[in-house]
Amino acid sequence: MIAADVLVIGAGISGLTIASALHKQGKTILCVEKARGSGGRLSSKRQPVGDDYVQFDLGCTAFTARTPKFKQQVSAWCDAGAITTWVNHNDEHWYVGTPRSSSITRLLANELPVQFSTRVTRLERHHSQWAVYIEGHNSQQCYALVDDVIISAPAPQCYALLPSDHALKSRLGYVTMGAQWVIMLALKDALNINDFCVSPNDVIASISYENSKPNRQQGNDLHVYCLQASVDWSNARMDYSKDKILMELTNAFAEFTQQALYVEQDYCHRWLYAQGNENGYEAAGFLTSTDGIHICGDYLVEDLGMHGVEAAYFSAMALTDYLSLPVLKQKSV
Ligand SMILES: Cc1cc2nc3c(=O)[nH]c(=O)nc-3n(C[C@H](O)[C@H](O)[C@H](O)COP(=O)(O)OP(=O)(O)OC[C@H]3O[C@@H](n4cnc5c(N)ncnc54)[C@H](O)[C@@H]3O)c2cc1C
Repeated sequence: MIAADVLVIGAGISGLTIASALHKQGKTILCVEKARGSGGRLSSKRQPVGDDYVQFDLGCTAFTARTPKFKQQVSAWCDAGAITTWVNHNDEHWYVGTPRSSSITRLLANELPVQFSTRVTRLERHHSQWAVYIEGHNSQQCYALVDDVIISAPAPQCYALLPSDHALKSRLGYVTMGAQWVIMLALKDALNINDFCVSPNDVIASISYENSKPNRQQGNDLHVYCLQASVDWSNARMDYSKDKILMELTNAFAEFTQQALYVEQDYCHRWLYAQGNENGYEAAGFLTSTDGIHICGDYLVEDLGMHGVEAAYFSAMALTDYLSLPVLKQKSV
């Protein structure tokens, strides 16, 4: 069994930001992620087309930086080559990962012990520590014994991990998150629309022309567009089949562009927990309990003029600052 000061659940932007910050302070950190790679909702996808492939950002397509602290971080990521500016929309710079959106989390994960393909199933109190159980081949297995656990998973997944009698359970119990359908269409021809269209109608939340993002190679000279459906539209169609969603969103896209779409390849994905809403907001930007369970993530922040990636970063840094107070140090004495 592994022993560490802190176990971080989730290798998205918030989990890796706090893991990296605490690691730099000299804490023994272990990060576990159920997926095969880092990124979470900042992930990208490759889809084969013939003997080549197209690539696209499956979750967050681009993000902004509004607060001085995040602008500073964004500038450091730009210098490290993990992101770059893409478009200017509504007088704001929008940033994208280079060559894909998970480049930031890859950069952070490189310097940390991250265990991928490892799903945490249960947390159990053992004296003054937490026993962390993970999914094994046939059963759950006790994987680590740690002082503190930081959960960076979306609210409903976080709720499921908390012990049934845990104090934070009632706080998270009523936090909901909106779903979002996303489709990718690889077209033979480029369309005569802007590289980034935000809320063109009630159905579509955004359209991004992936070829226009810096350092993206697309196979077979195809033109790759990603459409994110609006949260309202997606929530009303949670249980639709992927084929039906592809048809409805492609039609909405054709109607918006008023151009013929020659689709060579497509892809459809439903994010069950895509975006937070006002019932998750927490003044501090994180949740904590004296027994060593702490929670961070975008959905805890989004009323402070930030959202998405910046909110996730803010939440992780606010929790880092809190945990850097003498509390953890006292424990290790
Ligand atoms: C379709 C879509 C469009 C978006 N558009 C934008 C945008 O335009 N601009 C913007 O700023 N933001 C946008 N966002 C939001 C942005 O992607 C998120 O705010 C941000 O990535 C959240 O990061 P996080 O680390 O808090 O959570 P996540 O990225 O969700 O990370 C949580 C991680 O925890 C892992 N995990 C969960 N449960 C377990 C478990 N039991 N064991 C181990 N690991 C576990 C998950 O696999 C995941 O990797 C968008 C998101 C989506 C889905």
